Amino acid sequence: MTRRIVFVFIVSVLLLTAISCKTEEPQAVQAPGAESAVAAASAAGNPFFQPYGTPFNVPPFDRIKNEHFLPAIEEGIRREEAEVGAIINNRKKATFENTIAALDHTGIFLSEVNAVFSALQGAYTNKDLQALARTTAPMLAAHRDNIGLNEKLFARVKAVYDQRDKLKLGREELFLLENTYKDFVRGGALLDAAQKARFRELNQELSLLSVKFGENVLGETNAFQLVIDNKADLAGLPPSVVAMAAEAAKQAGLEGKWLFTIQVPSMTPFLTYSERRPLREKIHRAYFMKGDNDNERDNKEIARKIADLRRQRAAILGYPSHAAFVLENNMAKTPDRVDAFLRQLWEPTLVKAREEAAALQALIDRTGGKFKLASWDWWLYTEKLRAEKYALDDAALRPYFKLDNVRDGIFALCGKLYGLTFIEKPDLPRYHPEVQVFEVREADGRHTGILYMDFHPRPSKRSGAWSGGLRRAYYEKGQRVPPVSTITCNFTRPTADAPSLLSTDEVETFFHEFGHSLATLFSQGRYRSRTVARDSVELPSQIMEHWAFEPELLSVYAKHYLTGGVIPAGLVEKLGKSSLFNQGFITAEYLAASILDMAWHTLPNPAEVDTRGFETKVMADIGLIPEIVPRYRSTYFNHIFSGGYSAGYYAYIWSEVLDCDAYEAFKEKGIFDRATAESFRKNVLEPFGTEEPMAQYVRFRGAEPKIDGLLRNRGLEVKK
Ligand SMILES: [Zn+2]
Repeated sequence: MTRRIVFVFIVSVLLLTAISCKTEEPQAVQAPGAESAVAAASAAGNPFFQPYGTPFNVPPFDRIKNEHFLPAIEEGIRREEAEVGAIINNRKKATFENTIAALDHTGIFLSEVNAVFSALQGAYTNKDLQALARTTAPMLAAHRDNIGLNEKLFARVKAVYDQRDKLKLGREELFLLENTYKDFVRGGALLDAAQKARFRELNQELSLLSVKFGENVLGETNAFQLVIDNKADLAGLPPSVVAMAAEAAKQAGLEGKWLFTIQVPSMTPFLTYSERRPLREKIHRAYFMKGDNDNERDNKEIARKIADLRRQRAAILGYPSHAAFVLENNMAKTPDRVDAFLRQLWEPTLVKAREEAAALQALIDRTGGKFKLASWDWWLYTEKLRAEKYALDDAALRPYFKLDNVRDGIFALCGKLYGLTFIEKPDLPRYHPEVQVFEVREADGRHTGILYMDFHPRPSKRSGAWSGGLRRAYYEKGQRVPPVSTITCNFTRPTADAPSLLSTDEVETFFHEFGHSLATLFSQGRYRSRTVARDSVELPSQIMEHWAFEPELLSVYAKHYLTGGVIPAGLVEKLGKSSLFNQGFITAEYLAASILDMAWHTLPNPAEVDTRGFETKVMADIGLIPEIVPRYRSTYFNHIFSGGYSAGYYAYIWSEVLDCDAYEAFKEKGIFDRATAESFRKNVLEPFGTEEPMAQYVRFRGAEPKIDGLLRNRGLEVKK
């Protein structure tokens, strides 16, 4: 298998501010306030306005209708305004309890509604919900700004913050106080009136440009079709890929032809198997030229404009660059540390990528191809080389990774590590019949939380895989409110002839998302707010990937779906041996994109550069070989120009230093060692987001992480 970067949206954990990070966390709803006649009228028959009355207080998905959301969101905003108003108007001197803890406890009703709304938006959307999102997004943004830039509220927060040394607060309280204060400051609370006005303007402009950037990428993606009407042009493609393309053509009204797109699940199989080199070039070029075609969807101007507005915003707040602003909140702290880290990895990676390119060229020459390796040849010749070196193919492996078996393997692992048990709850309400719901229990039978899992693609579901939360654990009057976590994936569907049989990538993704959910399920935060450094957020998830293909665990769960026979030792060995294959490429394309991200967000004069020229120069400076294109080029780098990962794309591999080093602890003591697992749970997972991550890590490991584990894991050790 290949360790690649998994893209997840951790719906609640990644919203970092103390105020906005609660928007996805629901809690038991209160009865509607009698003060609002409108609300009372809307409340009739609206399940958000009544106690849920469901087991474990899960959302009553069977009773929630589209029209229930808007009145509930409006009511949620009204209630939070009233709650914040009560804090501001408190005549008593500001204290931790009446200001910081009270603020942490506002907006519960709104969070409840929003959590359900975003879960459905991601996993089971429709035209009405999409239209609703366009209405509510600006409403919610303005609501958050009204709180974040409220001067009276900030004055109270600051009053508590200024006496923090005298308050003798506990570790968690101090962390909450410091982050609440920091969120206000980073949100512009210390600016003067003119600066505040400019700050709001910049945010407005940036939000619009980000939306436009994303729309252009989507438009460019949908604008390209590779339609094949000549059977000879299918040369090399396996029957399953041909069938998929025939089905796609049929859907597009092109029955009898074959359709490929530049969406990754369609393009990658084509690049991996097609023997038609000009067609490979055509599709790959269309992919990596997205947003760079000098047409009405071009993103070159937008990218540099976004970078420039961010630079201006950072300057108003007193930071030398947008990267400096972002990184202050991460483990890495400064752009210099990120740059040094990426460069340390880049050199051995480039050596490896060059070796891989040479091996592929040798294969091309050996098999009579009279051309020089190009980016659109990499997948095909890598696949040929993989088959030659390891005699390993996807089709031979999948029968051992039936979805239910993999799920039960993860459950078994959680049993071995943490003593957990999982009880299916077929009667709990769910938003789609395919969703599976489990109650998670501790070894002694205590309730831990609820887990929803939704595995297969649908037209109503966003692509990718993610772990989210319908409720995050916290304490209410000394009682733990148990969490409700979700895992949403787009895994191979069952067919008429076979159950869902996963690829090794899908298996790894399942373990990954399950790790995020464990952090949610184990969470012991006393307060509702969490502050998770972006570059530590993948530790709980990525560490789980290490177990996925351990022979000791494979023997537990990897059983043939027809015969029940355990995966043969020979196959396990091949799997292990091939794990470092193509790592130069995978790491290089990822690092190149991370370096590009950092270059944009430390640039002193983005307004003056030419986007294409700038990117070319950055790649030339690091010596990227022309056979590899960065994983994302500037004009379709949604993560940094239309998502929340600006100056943060490096975070996956930074977290990997942590997860590789943490896993070494298990390897030292035994991969199922209960004591090590308990320590990981107590020190890292339970308090995740309630303290500085390095302090937690050191408590678990006894020392800061070393990079050696990561280098070994990716085969990047410098050879002596
Ligand atoms: Zn993740």
